[in-house]
Amino acid sequence: MARYTGPVCRLCRRERTKLYLKGERCFTLKCPVSENSDRQKRAFPPGMHGANRQRQGSEYLGQLREKQKARRIYGLLEKQFRNLYEEASRRPGITGTNLLQFLELRLDNVAYRAGWGASRAQARQLVRHGHVTINGKRVTIPSYRVRPGEVIALKAVTRENFNVKRNADVLERNVPGWLETSENGFAVTVRVVPAREQITETIQEQLIVELYSK
Ligand code: SF4
Repeated sequence: MARYTGPVCRLCRRERTKLYLKGERCFTLKCPVSENSDRQKRAFPPGMHGANRQRQGSEYLGQLREKQKARRIYGLLEKQFRNLYEEASRRPGITGTNLLQFLELRLDNVAYRAGWGASRAQARQLVRHGHVTINGKRVTIPSYRVRPGEVIALKAVTRENFNVKRNADVLERNVPGWLETSENGFAVTVRVVPAREQITETIQEQLIVELYSK
């Protein structure tokens, strides 16, 4: 499935907020939208006129930006995101919450939450390259939706990988409560479908629902 391969910091600049797309660099002063960064002067939308562009206040723009933000955080293209929304709207329950749950339950996101990848893009590559197993079977589909009870693990040889070890040491990511770690953090079991309050991304899903319901 296709994915965005362009420069990612400009996506954060477009949203005027940190989306944490680059891993370790996002926590350093090199981040152009970091509050304390000496590059703070680039915390405006990209493009020739980005610095002069005024913040617009329209309702539609707020909804559009929220959708783009969510889509970019989880690394989905528009069609994939729209399809996920359609599925969420058909399910019983609150559409916005369903959508966020679907995003969280993606296999690449679980690998990221477990701390194996410094970013979702890196976690996605681990999945794509066959380093991740579910209940002992290799799965290479980043969009695979994990289910409660499934055990997601890194292959033994990958656990010795320099980057994976470094991520485990340096990132100190807190694994969310809906996942249970084992095997020194190299395996996680999905305990439950995450509740809304367990999804920590600052996304106003109601705005996305309003946008797509027009
Ligand atoms: Fe976004 Fe990370 Fe780039 Fe900062 S360093 S702009 S958080 S991708």
